[in-house]
Amino acid sequence: MNKTKIVVTVGPASQDYEVLKQMFLSGLDVIRINMSHADEAFCDDIIRKVNALNQEFHTHVALLMDLNGPTIVVDSLGGKEYVLAKEETIDIYYDHRIGNQQAISVSYEEIGKDLKYHSHLILGENEIVLKVIDKLDDHITCLVEKAGMLRENMKVISPDCRLNFPFLTEKDRKDILYAHEHQVDFLALSFVRSHENILEVNDLLIQMNDNRMSILAKIETEEAVDDIDEMIRVSDGIMIARGDLGVSIPIERIPGIQKMILHKCHDVGKVSLVATEFLSSMESKSQPTRAEVSDIANAVLDGCDAIVLCGETTVGKYPLESLTTLEKVIESAEEDIPYSEFSDYAMRTEEEGITGSLAYSVATCAFKLHAVAIVTPTVTGYTARKISRFRPVCPIIALSSDEAVLKQLSLCFGVNGVSIPEFTSFDKMMKQAVTSLKEFMDTSEKDKIIITGGYPFREVKYTNFMRIEEL
Ligand code: PEP
Repeated sequence: MNKTKIVVTVGPASQDYEVLKQMFLSGLDVIRINMSHADEAFCDDIIRKVNALNQEFHTHVALLMDLNGPTIVVDSLGGKEYVLAKEETIDIYYDHRIGNQQAISVSYEEIGKDLKYHSHLILGENEIVLKVIDKLDDHITCLVEKAGMLRENMKVISPDCRLNFPFLTEKDRKDILYAHEHQVDFLALSFVRSHENILEVNDLLIQMNDNRMSILAKIETEEAVDDIDEMIRVSDGIMIARGDLGVSIPIERIPGIQKMILHKCHDVGKVSLVATEFLSSMESKSQPTRAEVSDIANAVLDGCDAIVLCGETTVGKYPLESLTTLEKVIESAEEDIPYSEFSDYAMRTEEEGITGSLAYSVATCAFKLHAVAIVTPTVTGYTARKISRFRPVCPIIALSSDEAVLKQLSLCFGVNGVSIPEFTSFDKMMKQAVTSLKEFMDTSEKDKIIITGGYPFREVKYTNFMRIEEL
């Protein structure tokens, strides 16, 4: 049973019911829908299938909607493509014209105001690089520094100037409303530039009276990296989106940024996801490369909560093999996690408090006693989250009667949700904890388990008991 969670992005290669079913049987934790490539009909179809599979297998696979975000794109080229040669110039007008290799426009009319002389624009996946060499009333002139093929709808990124276009687009607002109405569990915000962007979405969710959806900030620009502490503070978790991050900053900086963010998330107990290119070669081959295997293991050893498969499962030829490979590599890497070091570090950085202190005791006891599981009946998921931060060596089984809570826990390292009826007494809860555990995993006589939580339910706001049981 892996502790590091797996997020699978769905697309043409995996939307089929039978493929999804196999993925459920392999133990995926969260399904991600990338709204840059999905329409409402696709979402309806996936949500229907995920709900049906959760019912069939009594699982709590959660849904993550990844918003398109406020991207700037090249306007129409009349269906044509043009080669931009190095050292040539191209004008960018503010009038939404049909472009060609001499003059184009982009979806953000104010771009000229925000760009400085000698600042740069990157088009597509680092395919074309332009440098601003003149600014006039109705257009800017750019020098082509890196040649490439100009296509309509190419993403336009400014790596060195802040562009002041609104964060929430009409499409994103519409998609957030859809996510709210369809009980999506996680909302990933693409191209967040500052923590204020996250607060804007937070306010929108408050207006919708949505207490369910968690907000994940995708880190894919330099501005987001600069504001990382505040981003972590105001969001529910962070996704390191290495694809677009590697376009807006030099790719050699990604490993350091990844380690830094994972460390910071762990410090404050927010979930951390790492996305993109873990098993890129498996989009066309059935075997991973050694370097990909090392990349997965390093993310696990650095303490991430979840790994996100993208192209491998959306358009790759081997979506199922990619998932099973990822699981195998995670399982092996988890053998080498320095669990007690993580626990001790978490204790040193934990604020004073009863739940944190008890969670540390639970994690260290589990380690010392070779407990097979920590079972925690939970109303809000708080105890399970806290224990997860202390990285115990055994699985954490969270028992709840609230499906939304169980799904929220699906991104937390080591936590497995199990549905139970509401408890009426402490004794019934203890019995239920043992019954649910035995149903969930294989156990043997004399196995030790730790049961922990807060009692009386819904009255105490912290964890106040811990009991060690021998089966
Ligand atoms: C990424 O850029 O790595 C990413 C996960 O985002 P998207 O798939 O939206 O490009």
